Amino acid sequence: MGLTPMMQQYFSIKENYKDCILFYRLGDFYEMFFDDAELASKELELVLTGRDCGLEERAPMCGIPYHAANGYIGKLIRKGYKVGICEQVEDPKEAKGIVKRDVVKIITPGTMLDENFMDNRRNNYIMAVTDTGDRYGLAFCDISTGEFQGTFIEKSLVLLDNEISKFSPAEVVVSDPVISDHIQDKWNILINIREMEDAVDKSAVQSYFKSLSGGYNRVVASASSLLLAYLEETQKTALTNLTHLEIYNTNDSMTLDVNTKRNLELTENIVDKGKRGSLLWVLDDTSTAMGSRNLRRWVEAPLVNREMIARRLDAVEAVYSNINLLEDLREALKGVFDIERIVSKIALKSVNPKEMLTLKKSLGNLPAIKELLARIDYGELSRLVAKFDTLRDIHTLLEESIEEDAPMSMKDGGIIRSSYNEEIEELRDIRINGKKWIAEMEQKEREFTGIKSLKVGYNKVFGYYIEISKSNYSSIPEGRYIRKQTLANAERFITEELKLIEDKILGAEEKLAALEYRVFGEIRSSIEMEIERLKQTARIIADVDCYQCLAKVARDNSYVKPHMNEDGGISITEGRHPVVEKMMQKGEFVSNDLTMNQMNERFLIITGPNMAGKSTYMRQAALISLMAQIGSFVPAKSASLPISDRIFTRIGASDDLAGGKSTFMVEMSEVSDILMNATGSSLIILDEVGRGTSTYDGLSIAWAVIEHILKAIPGAKTLFATHYHELTVLEGELEGVKNYSVLVKEVGKSIAFLRKIVPGGADESYGIEVARLAGLPKNLLGRAKEILGKLEKKDAKVIKGISSVKEEKETLQIGLFDYEKELMLDKLKSLDVLNITPMEALKILHEIHTEAKELN
Ligand code: ADP
Ligand code: MG
Repeated sequence: MGLTPMMQQYFSIKENYKDCILFYRLGDFYEMFFDDAELASKELELVLTGRDCGLEERAPMCGIPYHAANGYIGKLIRKGYKVGICEQVEDPKEAKGIVKRDVVKIITPGTMLDENFMDNRRNNYIMAVTDTGDRYGLAFCDISTGEFQGTFIEKSLVLLDNEISKFSPAEVVVSDPVISDHIQDKWNILINIREMEDAVDKSAVQSYFKSLSGGYNRVVASASSLLLAYLEETQKTALTNLTHLEIYNTNDSMTLDVNTKRNLELTENIVDKGKRGSLLWVLDDTSTAMGSRNLRRWVEAPLVNREMIARRLDAVEAVYSNINLLEDLREALKGVFDIERIVSKIALKSVNPKEMLTLKKSLGNLPAIKELLARIDYGELSRLVAKFDTLRDIHTLLEESIEEDAPMSMKDGGIIRSSYNEEIEELRDIRINGKKWIAEMEQKEREFTGIKSLKVGYNKVFGYYIEISKSNYSSIPEGRYIRKQTLANAERFITEELKLIEDKILGAEEKLAALEYRVFGEIRSSIEMEIERLKQTARIIADVDCYQCLAKVARDNSYVKPHMNEDGGISITEGRHPVVEKMMQKGEFVSNDLTMNQMNERFLIITGPNMAGKSTYMRQAALISLMAQIGSFVPAKSASLPISDRIFTRIGASDDLAGGKSTFMVEMSEVSDILMNATGSSLIILDEVGRGTSTYDGLSIAWAVIEHILKAIPGAKTLFATHYHELTVLEGELEGVKNYSVLVKEVGKSIAFLRKIVPGGADESYGIEVARLAGLPKNLLGRAKEILGKLEKKDAKVIKGISSVKEEKETLQIGLFDYEKELMLDKLKSLDVLNITPMEALKILHEIHTEAKELN
């Protein structure tokens, strides 16, 4: 037994699409076979059946109806699979033997176009990475909007991660196993491995795009060519929506490493990765999908160029100060749908008539928007107005050509206006007249034969016919009718005349559908010629939408325009945390000031009890800086800020909200990353660093980190929250250090968090106060105070030792060890040996034993 011819065909196609689930078209179904069938039946909960394939065992098979395919495809894509759509590619009537089939399209997570499965408020990127020996080349494309960007970076996986984090691609194409292994380990992205030889010709990259921004080189070319080759492989059509290759420089925007982005919850919260509770959640009040995507890009890549920041801030201010205009602009923008994605569908020939109408409607709003903008004769907005093409010609074309109630489907006609095309008008006339002709004919034949019940009917098999019942046979005139079909009670006939009318009518229907399809294609092609203009206008809309959104958010939340200074200092009065504030009732959030400079106030040590508000205060500082560099107003009464080249945030391992995942090792490698990459213009947030290890271990590391930052990165501004009160002695000892603490107040039997940041260290006996309020016995509290007193004395002694002789390592070590020993002695002395259980005794022994081992 051998394979059936169909199965032979199946295997020869599948051979080329091993990494796809192959949807093989059979009649009205897509069928999957063998492994694909087993996988798909599981993932899609389909019944697994079998089909004779010529082998002994039946082929496992499952299938889905052709018309319901989209839903199933979407499910598979979201689960990270790729789907190959295999169709009949010749007319079955003309086929000799088995109908030819081939894969006409591959649908993948990074190349999707179906808006039912995509979030229209974020881009869907696919990425390519190449290793050119000395650099990594990167290319990113969102095929649904036609964006294509490229860059190159040093050969560093950390830098690679930063870019991956910026774009969050759904899929990646790599040629290099090292990179692919790294991405496999660290990111949850579908990986495609392709040989560089498969890439499109490098010079072809250049000719692919109508324009390239500066900086094009062989490294960018290598990644771009790899990506283009893959896109062609999956789309199987020219990608005419990729008109521009934007080459960006990683230094053009602030690099946000993965941790900082996560810790500051810029686009998603740490807890469930949702948008709620993120900065983007507060800032995104855009009116269009294009604006929303643009804003996300802004948040993910804050600016570092003074002029560009000023331009954005000024544009926001211009809209902010004109409330009527702001509201009008918002309204007008709401009528603009996703031009970018419709345009991509036009280029990829998957646009439907309804979407063309949506495009028309959107374009219809452009003149009003431009007119509104023109009223603000100001900076960046005037520049946009000057470039703003309202695309009247395209609007007119759509208005004149597409029927107002055109359907989704392209096959059934009703798409093109009669007034747009003469031939279509004629064919439609025939259709209307046809009914009249038939009615007239019926009337004529009745009169001629005198048979009242004579009627003209239609069915699919025989076409038009004259039907005469049996009882009237005798009245049929000789030779007038040609017999066509005999029924139980009637005969059906045709005449030459009826045949002629039939040809005309039926021909017209078919011709009309085909003609409308063709004319629609022509309209689509002529709009395709204008894609660059459409995309440019879409970009302007996206920018305008972001400006009005930031103005609106600033008004709604009482933000102010920040002043971007050049002296490197931070001066915020009554600053607030944008997200925490938003989560609370109005007025509940307590604002705080912040003053820093690059000299004597560049390292703030912030102490205070748990839950006092230290972390919030520090993140607030980072977010305010970041918002300003996005071009947003900031939550404060006033703010003067420098431009930070980088913002780093690190959270001590045990304080990490993500919990469990982070280890002390990770914490330390993150700190080391800061020490290596921070500059005098960086803002550094260290939250409970050193907490992930034992007390003295942690304290010493924290201490040394502070010294190092102050010495090795002069000018850098650091906020350092810690529960090590010992560190507060550094104020006065080290130039630049200032102590701050968060106020708490005793209120009756409980304590109130005042959330106010004040100069000076926190009160150390605070914990004992809480214990008292909680009702612990008096003698216990007394004892605790006594112990604290002793410890403080020792602390003071040792700490004095450390700070004054920090260069003499030997003394320092002796000091610390003595201190540890004394602590142990204290612990032993304080034991009430007769009143502890054997279990407790064992535990204490174990602790002391461990501590003793740590001493050497
Ligand atoms: P810490 O880091 O000192 O332990 P957090 O910064 O985590 O404290 O703050 C604890 C909680 O206190 C926050 O979740 C928030 O609800 C509240 N909080 C913090 N700062 C403020 C503030 N300025 N105004 C009002 N509530 C605040
Ligand atoms: Mg905290």
